[in-house]
Amino acid sequence: MRKTAVLAAAALAAVGWFSYEIWRMEAATAGSPEVDPAQPVSRRYIALTFDDGPHPVYTPMLLDGLKERGVKASFFLVGDNIDGNEEIVRRMAEEGHLIGNHTSSHVQISKIPMEEAVREIQETNEKLESLTGNAPEYVRPPYGEWSDELGERLRMEPVFWNVDPLDWKVLDAEKVYRHIVKHAEDGSVILLHDSYETTVQAAFKAIDTLEKQGYTFVTADELLVD
Ligand SMILES: [Zn+2]
Repeated sequence: MRKTAVLAAAALAAVGWFSYEIWRMEAATAGSPEVDPAQPVSRRYIALTFDDGPHPVYTPMLLDGLKERGVKASFFLVGDNIDGNEEIVRRMAEEGHLIGNHTSSHVQISKIPMEEAVREIQETNEKLESLTGNAPEYVRPPYGEWSDELGERLRMEPVFWNVDPLDWKVLDAEKVYRHIVKHAEDGSVILLHDSYETTVQAAFKAIDTLEKQGYTFVTADELLVD
């Protein structure tokens, strides 16, 4: 009895080995399913965007941390907040961040006449051009309200977002950080505001975690171009 069992087991093992060999040969003919080390792992890109600045304290704090980490971000500035913070704007440009327009006085475009909206954006464009030498090409419309007519008249592209941790309301670095990391995916545009220390802390922590997961931080314009 015992000998029969051993023989049966040996037969089964032989059949198993042959099946494995056939599978291996087929797999080899079809091409290896394993990852080719010569091929780069597909990269994932993400953009951090900061609205409502510059802030005299928290924006420089943010710029320091971004510089340390070698990360570029996008800043959509409110024209009225530029006054007195001109050096911060020059620094943003020098350090390679994208500078966009967030209107002069944070207006809700649907609630004002078209001419006023045009003026709100143009005035901030002029201010930014005189400081950095470049007129912004991108606008983050406050409250996400935009119109094609405005885009055509100003020849500017709106930049919206797809991850919103409500940092201005939450005011808790850990919660903001967790929201970003949970919702981040390839192509995410994260909406933040550099007017809060909690946001600056959350951004640094999110960068450190997401870089370990293989993300590369880019400016928002790089995600708009296919
Ligand atoms: Zn805003």
